[in-house]
Amino acid sequence: MSEIAIQRRGLMLVLSSPSGAGKTTLSRLLLEEDENISMSVSVTTRAPRDGEVDGRDYFFKSTEEFGLMRNRGELLEHAKVFDNYYGTPSAPVDEALAKGRDVLFDIDWQGTQQLMETANQHLVKVFIMPPSGQELEKRLTKRALDPPEVVAARMDKAWNEISHYTEYEYIIINDVVEESMKKLRSILRAERLKRERQIGLANFVRGLQQTL
Ligand code: 5GP
Repeated sequence: MSEIAIQRRGLMLVLSSPSGAGKTTLSRLLLEEDENISMSVSVTTRAPRDGEVDGRDYFFKSTEEFGLMRNRGELLEHAKVFDNYYGTPSAPVDEALAKGRDVLFDIDWQGTQQLMETANQHLVKVFIMPPSGQELEKRLTKRALDPPEVVAARMDKAWNEISHYTEYEYIIINDVVEESMKKLRSILRAERLKRERQIGLANFVRGLQQTL
């Protein structure tokens, strides 16, 4: 079976959710199986958790370094979340999109709103919901990455994040991971097929016309 590849403009897939809803797992699975999408690695002033690697999970920065990047206009968006600063470096995103690659963003609603102002036509916004508050608490406690007071603070903030769900185009209730992955793949597949993202289409159609 042959499949004609049409040159595509890269899209920006934004995943937001309250902490613990499973966004990191879904992102990891998607990046493993789909070679046309890469992760936007954020900068943060938060301390690394056990097992986190600088440059892979985040670029860990001091508040001063973060402020310099922000003032130099090197961040596509930035926000304060749980008393720490987070931001998306612009350069790697611009580079990937220019090559026709898609970019995955794990950012909060504040960052999504900023991207809507500057890059709305490239955005695909997906909000991941936990199936219930009890399940969210269980997941936050089970991953044992944060002390109990941090878990409690994250539970407190969950509603703040969830209350922004209407700003997203797609909602996935993440109960069974494999089912959520099927939904995420469908979203990506359909969004990649959008006419305005297939920038090689005009050439293809001209060629097609010659053969009619
Ligand atoms: P965590 O500390 O658990 O890694 O992330 C906390 C929250 O910050 C998550 O909701 C995550 O989506 C958000 N976040 C991570 N990186 C960025 C970023 O670059 N920009 C914004 N706006 N939020 C981010």
